Amino acid sequence: MSTNKPTHAPLMHFPVQDGSLHIGGIAVTRLAQRVGRTPFYAYDRSALTSRVKDLRSALPNDIRIHYSVKANPMPALVQHMTSLVDGLDVASAGELKTALDTGIPAGQISFAGPGKTDAELTQAIAAGAVIHLESAREVDAVNRIGQSLGLRPSVMLRVNPDFELKSSGMKMGGGPRQFGVDAELAPALLRRIEQLDLDWHGLHIFSGSQNLNAHAIAEAQDKTFELALRLTEDASRAPRLLNIGGGFGIPYFVGEKSLDLHPIGDMLSRWLPRVQAQLDQVKVALELGRYLVGEAGVYVTRVVDRKISRGQVFLVTDGGMHHHLAASGNLGQVIRKNYPVAIANRMQKTQREVLSIVGPLCTPLDMLADRQELPPAQIGDLVVVFQSGAYGLSASPSAFLSHPPAVEVLV
Ligand SMILES: *Cc1c(COP(=O)(O)O)cnc(C)c1O
Repeated sequence: MSTNKPTHAPLMHFPVQDGSLHIGGIAVTRLAQRVGRTPFYAYDRSALTSRVKDLRSALPNDIRIHYSVKANPMPALVQHMTSLVDGLDVASAGELKTALDTGIPAGQISFAGPGKTDAELTQAIAAGAVIHLESAREVDAVNRIGQSLGLRPSVMLRVNPDFELKSSGMKMGGGPRQFGVDAELAPALLRRIEQLDLDWHGLHIFSGSQNLNAHAIAEAQDKTFELALRLTEDASRAPRLLNIGGGFGIPYFVGEKSLDLHPIGDMLSRWLPRVQAQLDQVKVALELGRYLVGEAGVYVTRVVDRKISRGQVFLVTDGGMHHHLAASGNLGQVIRKNYPVAIANRMQKTQREVLSIVGPLCTPLDMLADRQELPPAQIGDLVVVFQSGAYGLSASPSAFLSHPPAVEVLV
């Protein structure tokens, strides 16, 4: 391969020994035997641990880190994450159950998301979780349900900011949004919350997701703190918590680079003493999903056929878009690009051929790699899709085509 051709970002989490990729210290071929079948997802416990450790060392000490369960709700993984982070963010009653099952104190669980039903709110209030209020209806519903249960609900107000997170893969704030209440309407709702029997914890301001531009993230954090100070100016007491969102991205595609945490660390170091002085030692939390877990996971699938169609080599595997919609390019991508992939049992082969890797579904959308240079692969080989620890299985249409579901293991 030519040396200056753009490539995928280096994947440093997983060692190679004797030509085989190792996940969680186990050769993938051996792991496949242990799991008993393919396809499966494997998440590397030590990669999760060192990720959070590295992140903490790049940020000011007292920044809290919350894990967004929707990125990967596998119970064993969520359990492991609770030993590393300061809180869990959930977005449904199902995720709330997963979070509560870990034994984390309910006060460290926050429940956000539009359209929370009375049934979900009742469960969250009964559990003692912190509810992120996202509309005037939710303010009144939480108050009414709290009274009927004889409980004083813990709440945050989620604010749709009056700015956007630039160069974000997914914008979730700024302009008209279904998330949170517009910043312009927040002061009136904060006054309303104060009048009710609600235990107000603070503000939640989330502006976007999958961002690899550290300066854009730092700039959004700067504006987030400004907005939080403005909104809390005439509150009768200071907030206890500012959840300033996250949006930290990971490199998926050729040419993308890992996020540089320095500008973010600098911005947080500058702001933290200032908001803590002005807001009575307020705590500041980041909520992150894919940044914490995305790089620690792989999807493993086995080659079941090798075909040549008009000169193009196709590997047909037993897994595909029904387990990994994102790698197939169908989860929010405009132009399809390849995730980083490898042939896990041929890591040291220097010979290359151009391969397309497809799944078993009867649709051309079921593609895991389009004309990628890889070692020549045969039936029985194991294809690994990297960067698969977040928005993998739970974000995929598993029932599509009625193939068996994928297994998930934490190793
Ligand atoms: C989805 C979501 C997250 C996590 O986003 P990532 O890109 O996985 O970090 C964080 N906060 C909120 C409110 C979300 O909806």
